[in-house]
Amino acid sequence: MIERHVFEVIIVGGGPAGLCAAMYAGRGMLRTVLLERGMPGGELLNTEWIEDYPGFKKVKGRELADLMAEHARQFGADLRQENVETIVRRDDGIFEVTTSRGIVFEAPAVILTAGGTPSKLGVPGELEYAGRGVSYCAVCDGAFFKGETIAVVGGGDAAVEEATYLTRYAEKVYVIHRRDEFRASKLLQERLLANPKVEVLWNRRVLELVGGPAGLATIELEDTVTGARSSLAATGCFVFIGFHPNSWLVKGHMKHDEGGYIITDDRMMTSIPGLFAAGDLRVQLTRQVTTAVGDATTAAIAVEKFLTERKARAERKTEVGV
Ligand code: NAP
Repeated sequence: MIERHVFEVIIVGGGPAGLCAAMYAGRGMLRTVLLERGMPGGELLNTEWIEDYPGFKKVKGRELADLMAEHARQFGADLRQENVETIVRRDDGIFEVTTSRGIVFEAPAVILTAGGTPSKLGVPGELEYAGRGVSYCAVCDGAFFKGETIAVVGGGDAAVEEATYLTRYAEKVYVIHRRDEFRASKLLQERLLANPKVEVLWNRRVLELVGGPAGLATIELEDTVTGARSSLAATGCFVFIGFHPNSWLVKGHMKHDEGGYIITDDRMMTSIPGLFAAGDLRVQLTRQVTTAVGDATTAAIAVEKFLTERKARAERKTEVGV
């Protein structure tokens, strides 16, 4: 028999948005479950220091994650380690959230905060050397490259910040960017460019990652302006070129942009009634811890109102005997 659990709201994803939504929903006295496939914290667990969360001048990502999880639990949210596979809305308006263990969680409202997965370069050698030189997480893998020459690909906040972080381990860090200017914030750029271990290779795109039994050895590059080709000796290649939102968990049509980012209204409700979205998988200008918790606050409060209205509608129907 299928194991089923009934809640008032199900939160899918345990990053800052999910944990904040769980805290608010719990505090709003809603029967709340949060489903997260790993440890609570999401991207916070891949970030060593957070310096732009108000009230914390400098805090370890892991520590902030633990504090957020503890806070959500304190208000009664049930945090469970479950890998969500599908989210389906039934005709009666109840969502069924099914996990890889075949457990079904039911609720009239879902807040999707499942973030995204790192984008891939899509070049030969990337899959072959994943975990053997190619990485998508500096905090997880940086220490394997002590004293080595490595490269970081990308020009956004993630690439620029993580390249600076990686200089603590690597002897030399090349930053490979396809244009002649970064899109990263000025402060992060200044820090990177002031670092003597860093060299930026502007207008370069990666053609191929080449290596041998010991792992990655060289990165084949092309100049995006002149078309000239070159080889860069590097034992590590950290790729930070954005990510794909995990919106595919929802079965059925939901409005999204061309990149798969979910479109919501100002209450964070998606085009599917009762399904809310918050954090990195939502269409928005920027993706910070602060914007994730902002979205989540709105979503959790909107869920409370949604459930109250839903209940009132059901009572009216009962009164008129429909
Ligand atoms: P992003 O801002 O979308 O930047 C992606 C970078 O990768 C861009 O420079 C882009 O180049 C490049 N790129 C994209 N596809 C590429 C490809 N196929 N080949 C080579 N380069 C490619 O992504 P992100 O840096 O992961 O950041 C995501 C969000 O998180 C942003 O909103 C960011 O502000 C936020 N974030 C904030 C912080 C912080 O504040 N400390 C840290 C990390 C992330 P172009 O510039 O040419 O498009």
